[in-house]
Amino acid sequence: MSKKRIAIMGSTGSIGTQALEVIQTYPEQFEVSVLTANNNADLLIQQALQFKPNVVVIANEELYDKVEEVLWKEDIKTYTGTTALEEVVQMDEIDLVLAGIVGFAGLRSTIKAIESGKNIALANKETLVVAGEIITKLALEKGVNIYPVDSEHSAIFQCLVGEFHNPIEKIILTASGGPFNGMKAEDLKNVTKEMALHHPKWVMGEKITIDSASMMNKGLEVIEAKWLFGVKPEQIEVVIHPESIVHSLVQFKDGAVKAQLGLPDMKLPIQYAFTYPNRLETKLERLNLAELGQLTFQAPDFELFKNLRLAYKAIEKGGNLPCALNAINEVTVAAFLNGSIGFLDIAELNERAMDLVQWNSNPSLNDLITTDGEARVIANNLINC
Ligand code: NDP
Repeated sequence: MSKKRIAIMGSTGSIGTQALEVIQTYPEQFEVSVLTANNNADLLIQQALQFKPNVVVIANEELYDKVEEVLWKEDIKTYTGTTALEEVVQMDEIDLVLAGIVGFAGLRSTIKAIESGKNIALANKETLVVAGEIITKLALEKGVNIYPVDSEHSAIFQCLVGEFHNPIEKIILTASGGPFNGMKAEDLKNVTKEMALHHPKWVMGEKITIDSASMMNKGLEVIEAKWLFGVKPEQIEVVIHPESIVHSLVQFKDGAVKAQLGLPDMKLPIQYAFTYPNRLETKLERLNLAELGQLTFQAPDFELFKNLRLAYKAIEKGGNLPCALNAINEVTVAAFLNGSIGFLDIAELNERAMDLVQWNSNPSLNDLITTDGEARVIANNLINC
């Protein structure tokens, strides 16, 4: 059997490094054809020396010489710049593209990969938030499969195996609630970046960790679920489940509910996206329900975590609004991380900025790129005034 050749977009990130751990565990199954990074040139070089891809891309042009100086001796082609990301995903020597770049920056390379008929293991949820309709239509047209990597969406996907002909009545997305679950608005006023970055269950990149603390992550996941599974927003329910054992559930029209459970570890959903419909044996820690004793569930607090409400509003209205919300949130999260705004300001500003965006009911990809730029300006203006 030939090895599956995988392009790891965002190889230096949390998803990218865990994907490489999976690949390292099964050298007879997978090989790396492409590695890409933005700023972490040292780790990219180290990964390239270990995994010997055909090509690497360092998106930050200032770091090109540093990477190229080492890798040309190994016969590994090195490219730089954002257009290189879009070009390398089209190479013949790729069977599957792992979309592991964070944020809007991951959109264009994912689109190019789909256009050139590559199957996608999708971690970059922002891609579907921004352009869900365009992406899902394009994937259908090109016969491309999109395998979810997000643990919740992977769980739903796993529940649907053998059920694809059965309509979904409801999707129940579980949320850990992040580090601030159960707190009051008063307690959240002065939370620091360090507190927000301390997720109780998952170790992830900074942006998604802040999104988890503010519940925007779950909001983005609601939008992602709508596009991945073809359901309406009102068919998606969010439930807080602090133990992060039940990764999500699907309810069918006869009332039956299926769930996928496991200890929190992203390597499992990454691996499943690489191997679907097969499963490979792992040494991952096994679930012991008796030891856990109990699993708890609560309704989310939509007033305190208003980002979740904003995400529902964006997807219900549709058009360019989810794209705008995503852009605004990228700006406010960056502002929180650099200390310009407080934690509660993230959702406050997201709401105010979203109200200022000019709505377009049926945007093209170019319209969405324009919306992304305009929404960032609106958000920055609000932060600076
Ligand atoms: P990280 O911040 O850890 O990694 C992001 C990766 O993208 C890095 O390789 C980074 O390069 C690269 N990157 C960032 N900006 C750019 C850019 N402008 N151009 C090119 N490359 C860029 O993020 P995560 O791995 O946590 O998340 C990646 C995606 O997966 C996100 O969309 C997230 O929502 C999703 N996801 C993540 C989960 C997790 O457990 N981490 C779980 C579920 C979904 P460099 O480091 O070199 O600068």
